[in-house]
Amino acid sequence: MLHIVGAGLAGLACAVDAVVAGLPVRLYEAAPQAGGRCRSFHDSTLDRVIDNGNHLILGANRAAFRYLDRIGARDRLTGIEPSSVPFLDLASGESWRVSAGWSTLGRALSGRGVLVPGGTWSEFARLWRLFRAPENAIVVDALGPEGALYWKLWIPLSVAALNTAPDEAAASLLWPVVARTLLAGSDACRPYIAREGLGAALIDPAVDWLAKRGANLATGMRVNALNFDGKRLAALGCDGQQIALAAGDAVVLAVPPANANALVPGLGAPEETRAIVNTHFRLERPAALPFGAPLLGLLGGEAEWLFLRGDVLSVTVSAADAIAAKPAEEIAALMWRDVTRAIGQLGALLPPVRVIKEKRATPAQTPEFARSRLPAKTRWQNLFLAGDWTATGLPATIEGAIASGQEAALQVVSTQGAGVTSGRDAIRKDQA
Ligand SMILES: Cc1cc2nc3c(=O)[nH]c(=O)nc-3n(C[C@H](O)[C@H](O)[C@H](O)COP(=O)(O)OP(=O)(O)OC[C@H]3O[C@@H](n4cnc5c(N)ncnc54)[C@H](O)[C@@H]3O)c2cc1C
Repeated sequence: MLHIVGAGLAGLACAVDAVVAGLPVRLYEAAPQAGGRCRSFHDSTLDRVIDNGNHLILGANRAAFRYLDRIGARDRLTGIEPSSVPFLDLASGESWRVSAGWSTLGRALSGRGVLVPGGTWSEFARLWRLFRAPENAIVVDALGPEGALYWKLWIPLSVAALNTAPDEAAASLLWPVVARTLLAGSDACRPYIAREGLGAALIDPAVDWLAKRGANLATGMRVNALNFDGKRLAALGCDGQQIALAAGDAVVLAVPPANANALVPGLGAPEETRAIVNTHFRLERPAALPFGAPLLGLLGGEAEWLFLRGDVLSVTVSAADAIAAKPAEEIAALMWRDVTRAIGQLGALLPPVRVIKEKRATPAQTPEFARSRLPAKTRWQNLFLAGDWTATGLPATIEGAIASGQEAALQVVSTQGAGVTSGRDAIRKDQA
């Protein structure tokens, strides 16, 4: 039996691959529902189902698409056509679309700038410094501190992908993002949106898929102690009961770092976090974002991204610890001011609004974080780790979380002895 603690994306992805490999699975989730930091819920103020925060998936997110294929939910995402990310500078009124592939080259050769208006090849060549950046380098040292590309693309990309400002974000974590997206062509860069929300796309289909295959998900079940016996984990302590582990049992701890540290003595998972603030408005009248896309990147204001789904317009600010410290009413007014600057007046008054402050949205993705991430295997034979914060080499995102869960499943199966080859092969089948 594989016991998985935490039913966020890492735990769910681990469960799915373990089931594919033929292992019986039991998940323990402290919250009343699965999903963790990637979830949808009905908000009574807006009377709409909203996401805790806007989440973007890119064509390059191979682990995420493999997971979606496994659970039969790829069609719950909509890819943006043409493949590009629109931006608007609120201060200057200038707008542009960032895309990769031949259109980028054409744009640059016709004098409209490399990737963004005013972007130059010499600035683009700084990517070499990002590629070669030492372990302790930060993004600004590799790509900044000035230039059109830096202000119009590298800063928004660092903040959005790493949830960390470029003057503290690890260059080594931005490189895989650039290499797998902008340098990998148009399909890799295509943004995908969860049409009906995160729950309907990434969580509910996995929960259903697992239930149909006999995997057990216990929600409202917090694991509050791990009992070790020499080199093995011997039991899970759960709401006053002890769940003894049989000889072949393994445990994957797929919880955030602070929870993992509380359960495993001396683990040393990196605990520093950064906030993300999302402000959801229910619009009184239909609206469209510039370029007709469902999302828009903003510069020159407080708001960073707008997402439009039906009549709900959501505003995202990342690396948002300072904003998160403000009262919700003040945040709503600040965001609404930028919304109206971006798309015009949408009614005289502030519409119904819900502000969601995720104060521990992701790890602070600094060089120190990059150095102190932990691998899936631990010093205990039957205890494994997963989660966006583990050592995937990727930023702490949906892709990182899912990849970590898939890696943990592979490690568990590899230590199982009998049936290893077929189980491992089943997991790896479409992992190319
Ligand atoms: C507002 C916001 C916006 C984001 N935007 C994006 C984006 O655009 N693109 C992107 O790729 N990523 C984005 N992310 C990051 C992404 O959501 C996370 O990286 C990912 O969801 C982390 O998944 P996880 O499974 O590692 O952790 P979690 O989702 O935190 O899951 C851990 C689970 O463990 C449970 N748990 C904890 N302790 C225990 C215990 N003792 N016993 C039982 N259960 C326990 C928790 O309740 C939780 O459900 C965003 C995150 C936030 C918060």
